[in-house]
Amino acid sequence: MASFVVTCLLSGLFAFVFAYRARVQRRLLARQATIDPLTGIGNRRTMDAELDIAMADSKRYGIDFGLLVLDLDHFKQINDRFGHEVGDRALAHFATVLTQRLRINDLFCRMGGEEFAVLLPGTPPGRAREIAESLRQRLADKPLEVAGSAVPMTLSAGVASLGSDGQSLDELMRAADRRTYAAKRAGRNQVIADEDEASAIDAVPG
Ligand code: GH3
Ligand code: MG
Ligand code: MG
Repeated sequence: MASFVVTCLLSGLFAFVFAYRARVQRRLLARQATIDPLTGIGNRRTMDAELDIAMADSKRYGIDFGLLVLDLDHFKQINDRFGHEVGDRALAHFATVLTQRLRINDLFCRMGGEEFAVLLPGTPPGRAREIAESLRQRLADKPLEVAGSAVPMTLSAGVASLGSDGQSLDELMRAADRRTYAAKRAGRNQVIADEDEASAIDAVPG
C-alpha cells in the first residue's frame, strides 16, 4: 500500500515537472520569436503584428496612430573605431535610453541592424513629432561611455501619421522611410515630419 502511494506521488510529481518544463520552453520560444536578444526590445515581427492591430483599431474605433522610423547616424564608424562588441553595446545603450523616454503603451522595436521604429497609439501628428524630437534630444544628451570617454550618438527620424499621411500601412511606412532619408540628406541628427519635408528637400545642396 505504502509503495503504491509513493509511486502515485512520484508519477504526479514527474508529470508536474514535465508540464512545467514544457510551459517554460513554450514561453521561451514565444519570447525568442518576438524579442530582439541584443536590445531586449521587440523585433520586426512584433512591430508588424502590432501595426496590424493598430490598423484594425483605427478602422473600428477611429483611433489614429503615429509611426517613427529611427536610424542611427554614422553607426558604422562606431564599429570601425571601437569594434563590433562596442557597436553591440551602443545598440543596447540606444534602446535603454529611448525606452526611458517612451510611454507604457508605445511600442519600440528593432526593425533590423541599426534601424528602429516606434508605434505611438492614439497620438496626433504634432505630438508624434514632439516625441521624436524628445527622443533625438535624449540620445544626444546621453553619449555612450567607452573606457571612460563619452562617444556621441545621434539619430535621424522620419515621422508619419495615419490619416494625414495615408490610410494604408504601406503608405505610412513609405512616408516615414522617405522622411528618415530626408533627415540624413539634410545633415542627420534631426527629425523630419510632414511639415518639414519641403524645406528639408530645398535645403539639400545640389
Ligand atoms: P547613416 O548615417 O547613413 O545611417 O550611416 P550608418 O553608418 O549608420 O549606416 P550604414 O548602413 O552604412 O551602416 C550600418 C552599420 O550597422 C553597418 C553594420 O555593420 C552595423 N550593424 C548592423 N547591425 C549590427 C549589429 O547587430 N551589431 C553591430 N555591432 N553593428 C551592426
Ligand atoms: Mg545608420
Ligand atoms: Mg540604416
